Amino acid sequence: MKMSHLVGRRTKDFPRDAELKSHQFLLRGGYIKQLSSGIYSMLPICKKITLKIEAIIRDEMNKIEGQEVLMPVVMPKSIWEESGRYSGIGTEMVRFDDRTGSPHVLGMTHEEAVVHMVRDDVTSYKQLPLMIYQIQTKFRDEKRSRGGLIRVREFTMKDAYSFHQTEDCLGEYYQEVHSSYERIYKRCGLTNVISVESDTGMMGGKVAHEFMYVNACGEDTLILGEKSGYKANKEVASTHFKYDAEDFKDLQEVHTPDKSTIEDVSTLLGLKQTQTGKVVLLTHPEDGKLIVLLLRGDRTMNDIAVKKALMINEIEFAEEDLIKDAGIYPGFGSLLGIDLSKVHLLIDESVVDCPNIVVGANKKDYHVLNFNFKRDLNAGQIGQYSFVQEGDLVIDSDEEVTITRGVEVGNIFQLGTKYSKDMKATYLDNNGKQQNFIMGCYGVGVGRMLACLIEEHHDDYGPKWPISVAPFEVHLCLLDAKKEGIAQRGLDLYKELKAHGVDVIVDDRNEKTGFQFADADLIGAPIRMVISRKTIKNDEFELSLRGSKDKELCSIDSAVEAVKAKIAELKAQI
Ligand code: ATP
Ligand code: MG
Repeated sequence: MKMSHLVGRRTKDFPRDAELKSHQFLLRGGYIKQLSSGIYSMLPICKKITLKIEAIIRDEMNKIEGQEVLMPVVMPKSIWEESGRYSGIGTEMVRFDDRTGSPHVLGMTHEEAVVHMVRDDVTSYKQLPLMIYQIQTKFRDEKRSRGGLIRVREFTMKDAYSFHQTEDCLGEYYQEVHSSYERIYKRCGLTNVISVESDTGMMGGKVAHEFMYVNACGEDTLILGEKSGYKANKEVASTHFKYDAEDFKDLQEVHTPDKSTIEDVSTLLGLKQTQTGKVVLLTHPEDGKLIVLLLRGDRTMNDIAVKKALMINEIEFAEEDLIKDAGIYPGFGSLLGIDLSKVHLLIDESVVDCPNIVVGANKKDYHVLNFNFKRDLNAGQIGQYSFVQEGDLVIDSDEEVTITRGVEVGNIFQLGTKYSKDMKATYLDNNGKQQNFIMGCYGVGVGRMLACLIEEHHDDYGPKWPISVAPFEVHLCLLDAKKEGIAQRGLDLYKELKAHGVDVIVDDRNEKTGFQFADADLIGAPIRMVISRKTIKNDEFELSLRGSKDKELCSIDSAVEAVKAKIAELKAQI
């Protein structure tokens, strides 16, 4: 590639709205151009990187017997109705009618399409297990796109789907995909990736892991036990509660005028927030009953856990009428003295053994001291319905949790028979009986991974691409190109490098040194070659690594060998 013809404008100006380094450099380096909110064009250097990332992914998928296919972006409503997701998914899915008025959607994922593909084509257990994958565009009308390529509305995903006869077979293959993903991130140069237990959602399935690039810029919160090896997304993480045993004291009403928040009540009574209890009041979307969640005053409801426990998709805070109907006094509410048959009762583990806590008295301006769950209520569905927080203990361990953030760069999922049952996809087993396929699904976001690679590898001047995915392996700068035959010698060398399979860009623009170097930094090729008036005197060039001050002089005649040796050295380090 010649810089003089490269499409994509580089700029010194810092984009005003871009907070993340990756977003800044993608814009400043002429990698991407925004067309609309969350919708970007990828310019040549960005496309080159994605091709290299995709080649690594493809290679790893093929190693585990993946069969590459391409499913359509536009799909008829009918298959989404079969799975029940047409109504289950909200406005993230784009829906439209074609010219005949027939309803269609834009694919935001492809479980339906893959089951449609397989269900009449794979008929026998002899064909199983198998895995199908694609590298394809997804469209999701995300509420908040952000961070350049981190969260966009249109993006490329590698999505894979496996089909099995048994849960055991799925479990084994799942482990293979897990290892395959570890190799993908490593080979692309993304090192700070961990897999964490994750939510399986409402769509069935028991086991799921997310691959998280650990970085403060992430939207996900991760709960880690560094010694015990515990790793889970906050959405599903659990902790355990240890309390020193205390004698149960008598219940006692206490006047707490106008003190309806945990903070006010605990201050007034001189208690810690951990010595209080509170109720969160919600409406059940199906039967309209009140849901009462009892948890320790300092804890926050985990809505995902609540939804899972009640097998519902949505929850909303309850209206005052519904609360009062159940005999609960808002602001001073508790479970004391109410008709429990009128409510769905969830008890967070934090309160089960927490001794002598203060709770509402269901009476204006009053609380009750010394509530003990096992003595005073002992009812409801006990579970962990609050988020793990700072100071909590890792489950089955005495270690305190470490809380950090991450960007989800991939996930793997044991789906089970959810889609094959809903969409009636079966094969004949060895007894000639029809069985539903047991499925797994596995995703990697290509553009998001590219952005994370910049987050991990950059300096103040631009990205420092790992050699395996760099847009170019070598950046050849020709300084004072018009003098002393530098341009000719440089362009000849450029051709020679290309002929030997080196991925090289040459700066043939006759621009000033600082200008050329700033552009080279933004393009981020790992190896830099410079021919200048000084080096040409001895028919030499300067060889250095991106971001390093160490330079060596090498003869142009043996440039190909020198550069190839450097490339091999860098590749060996990945
Ligand atoms: P998130 O929780 O970040 O929205 P997701 O759970 O919706 O992700 P999947 O549907 O499982 O993600 O998609 C698989 C992969 O595709 C994700 O791990 C991520 O790398 C990528 N991905 C998902 N949504 C986006 C998006 N809006 N922009 C860029 N990449 C995305
Ligand atoms: Mg999402």
